[in-house]
Order: sequence, then structure tokens, then C-alpha cells
Amino acid sequence: MPVQGATKYDYNSKSFWFYPWGKSVTHKGVDIFAKKGTGINSSVSGFVLYAGEIGFGGKFVLILGPKWRVHYYAHMHELKTSSFSFVNRNSTIGTVGTSGNASGKPPHLHYSILTMIPYVWKIDSDKQGWKKMFYLNPIEYLKK
Ligand SMILES: [Zn+2]
Repeated sequence: MPVQGATKYDYNSKSFWFYPWGKSVTHKGVDIFAKKGTGINSSVSGFVLYAGEIGFGGKFVLILGPKWRVHYYAHMHELKTSSFSFVNRNSTIGTVGTSGNASGKPPHLHYSILTMIPYVWKIDSDKQGWKKMFYLNPIEYLKK
């Protein structure tokens, strides 16, 4: 659980691949709601590919973790790590906010897990179902 103190009541267990979802068409992650400024911990040990700010994601961090999986944390209020650094599991990497296209919405962390190795058996007939070979359902990992 990347948001400090959050539980299963702080996210919707059906929010992965929710459709329709604006310009992205489907929601390729989970939104975990918390008070602005709540700490965000890395869910894996890994290498920070990018920590910065860009349009829709706002302030975000991309971490390459085990199994060639990239963990995406978006809409942060503050970044607490930097590009090209190593983080441990549970290192604080930022705080919950509303940056990017979360502006005007309740503060939350958008969390996605992408695999750089395509999992072709995950493809299904949902809208954009072929993209499921790259986007894993983070909710399956939150429960552990
Ligand atoms: Zn989201």
C-alpha cells in the first residue's frame, strides 16, 4: 500500500479499467484517496527513472522495480525523490496532492503498474483490452 495509513476503504476495488474515463478512455490504475500531504511510499525497491512534472499526471514518479515492472505514482503535492536515484521499499517518494488533471478533485494518488515485458495472456475483450498486456491491476498487489 503506497499511501501511508490507507486501507481498502480509501480506494474503489473496481476502479481499474473503469470505462469511460475521459481522454484516457479507460482508467489504467487505482486512485487512493487521502488528505493532501499524506506520505507516499514506494511499493518496491527500485530505480527512479523519472521524478518531475508533466501535464496530465502533474508531479509524478516512475520507478523501475523487480520483474521489469514500472510503477507510476501521479498527482503528487510534493516530490520527495529525484530522477536516477535508488529507493527502498517503503521509502517516502512524495505526498498526496491534486497536481495535473486531478486539479479540482479530492486529493489522491493515482497508482499504475506497467510491465515492460508484455503479458499477452492478459489481453481481453474490454475496451482497449489489448493494453492489459502492459497495465497490471495494482489492486491485486494492494491486497497483499
Ligand atoms: Zn487515476
